[in-house]
Amino acid sequence: MQKKAKLVASLAYKNLRYTNNHPLRIPRVSLLMEFLKAMDLIEEEEIVESKPATLKDLLLFHEEEYINALRESDSCQCVKREYRERFNIGTYENPISPAMWKGSLLATGSSLQAADLFLGGFLAFNPAGGMHHAYSNKANGFCFINDPGITLQYLLEKGYRRILYIDLDAHHCDGVQDFFYEDDRVFVFSIHQSPSYAFPFKRGFFEERGSGKGRGYNLNIPLPKGIKDNEYLLVVEELIPLIAQAYKPEIYVLQLGTDVLAEDYLSKFELSNFGFLKAFDIIREVLSDGIYLGGGGYNPIALTRAWSLIWCRISNREIPKELSPRAIGLLSSVEFEEFDEVDRSYMLKSLLDNPRKDYIREEVKDIVERARNELL
Ligand SMILES: [Zn+2]
Repeated sequence: MQKKAKLVASLAYKNLRYTNNHPLRIPRVSLLMEFLKAMDLIEEEEIVESKPATLKDLLLFHEEEYINALRESDSCQCVKREYRERFNIGTYENPISPAMWKGSLLATGSSLQAADLFLGGFLAFNPAGGMHHAYSNKANGFCFINDPGITLQYLLEKGYRRILYIDLDAHHCDGVQDFFYEDDRVFVFSIHQSPSYAFPFKRGFFEERGSGKGRGYNLNIPLPKGIKDNEYLLVVEELIPLIAQAYKPEIYVLQLGTDVLAEDYLSKFELSNFGFLKAFDIIREVLSDGIYLGGGGYNPIALTRAWSLIWCRISNREIPKELSPRAIGLLSSVEFEEFDEVDRSYMLKSLLDNPRKDYIREEVKDIVERARNELL
């Protein structure tokens, strides 16, 4: 029987935004909710209202001193110099704003709700989740609380011993990798822009395969600029089945950052949402269902379209050919500064993009081959 799908979300995020000039100042979860309603793709009973994480949840991953500093900075919406230096908060990258503490608590609680729903027999997607850059003791890359890391720890607490974490975000999941680097109970697999040209720069190289007991349980696929659907899907098609075979995960958590899309100005990947959806389909074909989290994504229209496709899949709905007038009106009204002159009117004409294809470069084939050799 088809499992019921739940979207863990809240309109409360509207008032929990980053500050004015931050890439995450844009509407994301609330826009997705409004879009799905405008497209008639969701029923009220499919939405589970987000609940904030508890202190106990946060301490599954984070150090108490860091959490206390976040809470204190939130209460005054200011930052001590000492905290800025030690915890990397109150910077341009990780500013003090309602998103820092209250937004992060809500996003993190939602990831745990998604995990509980999944364990209870539902399919669940938390689009606010996937803040994979935060470290146990500091903010990093727009992320304050590492909700995927907390979710993985939560699953370990539940007794799982072979958990697979898959990260499709355009950026390497350094916070998650670092925490589980010596752990063989969590296999971390990430496909991303090579750190030789993209954030987080210092982590995400192929050679980082874990250490100690965790040796062999971390796999990074750093890729060159300009990755299109067929290069990306080669990686997914070749490696997901091998990881499944080699590791035999009991459960998996999937981070679905949409900054891999061509319309995203913070990354150099050029996927269509067709390719993004296909990657999701392949993962589900091989591994069945998992716990679905959002991730990066800085073009609000592109991310809303892509996550709507994910929602259509998990809620077993047909993908509509066209956007409804109400949905077009909604997306057209989003205030968002485009940084180039490309004509993206196609985003308002249909939900699913045409595939973006090009020839498959030797360097992509090479890294897939190297990874195959590691896994076989
Ligand atoms: Zn990202």
